Amino acid sequence: MLKTALFFKMIDILYNSKNQQTIAEPVSINGIGLHSGVDIAMKLYPAEADYGIKFIRNDLNKNNIIEAIWSNVTNTKLSTTISNQNGASVSTIEHLMSALSGLHIDNIKIEIDGPEVPIMDGSSIKFVDLIDKASTQNLNKRRKILKIKKNIKVENNDSSVELKPNNQFSIDFEIDFPSKLVSKQSCQLQLVNGNYKTDIASARTFGFERDVDMLRSNGLALGGSLDNAVVVGESKILNSDGLRFKDEFVRHKILDSIGDLYLAGAPIHGYFLGNKSGHHLNNLLLRSLFADKDNYEYI
Ligand SMILES: [Zn+2]
Repeated sequence: MLKTALFFKMIDILYNSKNQQTIAEPVSINGIGLHSGVDIAMKLYPAEADYGIKFIRNDLNKNNIIEAIWSNVTNTKLSTTISNQNGASVSTIEHLMSALSGLHIDNIKIEIDGPEVPIMDGSSIKFVDLIDKASTQNLNKRRKILKIKKNIKVENNDSSVELKPNNQFSIDFEIDFPSKLVSKQSCQLQLVNGNYKTDIASARTFGFERDVDMLRSNGLALGGSLDNAVVVGESKILNSDGLRFKDEFVRHKILDSIGDLYLAGAPIHGYFLGNKSGHHLNNLLLRSLFADKDNYEYI
């Protein structure tokens, strides 16, 4: 009897893992915007199958819905910004998008009272904790997967991004910064068995001390501090606790890429290779992927 129950439980897990998911109950979070420096409140709500991921700017009273999809990306300078046709926008969406991808949330409604997703600690771990707190629910509809059928590559000077056919989602990333504290790092990863939480989610965004004045004078990173970024000085990491991973920098670039690629509108089965790349190339990659229907299929 017990064996039969266990058998059906396993069938249930296998079956449901292929179904779309949302969160089980509403949850909220507050924090400051990295670039604007203003306090932002955000509330996540469950959504029905095929709803997708949508931001609702509840500080605006009309035309305030912005779908999180690659074709709505309007700015990729320092972070990823999406806008609707009426010009309402939300920026710095990539860490939240990354958490949603890592935890397999297909459908969710995100109410936000300002133009920027809060930066929290500079990683996606607070969003992961928030989704864990809400817990997930399975929806009665199969998830569609975006299967890459051809190699797609986008280059810019010595940076590049690539997607290749693969029967799951894998990432291979390499960075090379002119700082002896960062320099060359590479990381390969397959997203399986919940390793997003342990290997990627807590890797923080980073910046260089030498760039801080330039960013501030351009009205950027106004909310940035040692509480929400790793700051790399000339000879040492300025955060008193140091790094969370020896290769935290490249892990954060992977976190960003997972978030940007989730703007494809479905989980990807493909092999992603990033080389010194960022938000801009990630978006160009999705644009060239969707430019030709022979590049992909839904399974
Ligand atoms: Zn980031």
